[in-house]
Amino acid sequence: MAKLVKEKGQKGRLHIKTPLMGESLVSKEFLKTTEANEYFRMQPEINVLKIGGQSIIDRGAKAVLPILDVLIQAKEKHKILLMTGGGTRARHVYSIGVDLGMPTGVLSKLGDKVSWQNAEMLSVLLSKHGGVKIGHGDNLEQLTMFCQLGYIPITYGIPPYGYFEHPAEIGSIPPHRTDCGAFLLAENIGARSLLYLKDEKGLFDRDPKKGKKNDKAKMKFYDRISARELIDLDLDDLIVERPILPLLQRAKCLKELQIIDALNHPEHILAALDGEHVGTIIYKDE
Ligand code: ADP
Ligand code: MG
Repeated sequence: MAKLVKEKGQKGRLHIKTPLMGESLVSKEFLKTTEANEYFRMQPEINVLKIGGQSIIDRGAKAVLPILDVLIQAKEKHKILLMTGGGTRARHVYSIGVDLGMPTGVLSKLGDKVSWQNAEMLSVLLSKHGGVKIGHGDNLEQLTMFCQLGYIPITYGIPPYGYFEHPAEIGSIPPHRTDCGAFLLAENIGARSLLYLKDEKGLFDRDPKKGKKNDKAKMKFYDRISARELIDLDLDDLIVERPILPLLQRAKCLKELQIIDALNHPEHILAALDGEHVGTIIYKDE
């Protein structure tokens, strides 16, 4: 802890002697000393549910309304923060930006409005059931309170990178989009669980929507896989954004996440909230 030190010869002037004083905060050896035995979890009862933009919301009422019905039911038993994906509108603006040779940070800034639109839409649809749209500020400290009062807080999944987005490893699409935003928030608030509501039952060895139909039978399904194994597999395409894997490896609070098919099985949301394994679980190697 910091110590107040009185400077010699100067009446009453105090200095704060802190353990981090004089450190560059870069030294690996030093950084090890900042590891906590157990990290403080601000919202340990909150379940973060990311609802897909392209996989769910873009499909309209047929897909969205049955899921909202389940969420209204689920909030009686579980505390839920709903986070929204972007989807086709974000992809459209990215494609125009790519055509214009825009760098990643500009694309990030262009695409970030769409998950906000989706959050707006869900909060309108859920308003009479306690749906309340919140931003990424102080409201995030009030999540438990919102849920205790019967609300369903809803926020946009996109993290606030904009011009500060990291360069993409390949190409120019911003690598940290709404899957990453949901991950980062769930980790930092110390959430109880993180669920991705998508339109496939989980992770396969390739995108089930691509390739020949009769190849489908040959696809391998992963019901449980570690982030490390998945990084090593180096699959061409994934059902969640790729930067989540190294982030999960480094996570201090989150131990796993689950991807479920909420489109065809909205009831799986309840099952997953109850701790059942109904999709693909990606876990952190200890
Ligand atoms: P969201 O709108 O939820 O972000 P995306 O459309 O971005 O969803 O990503 C989910 C989609 O990823 C699935 O609908 C599936 O078609 C595709 N996908 C790509 N690779 C895989 C894979 N290896 N396993 C399963 N799905 C995959
Ligand atoms: Mg996506």
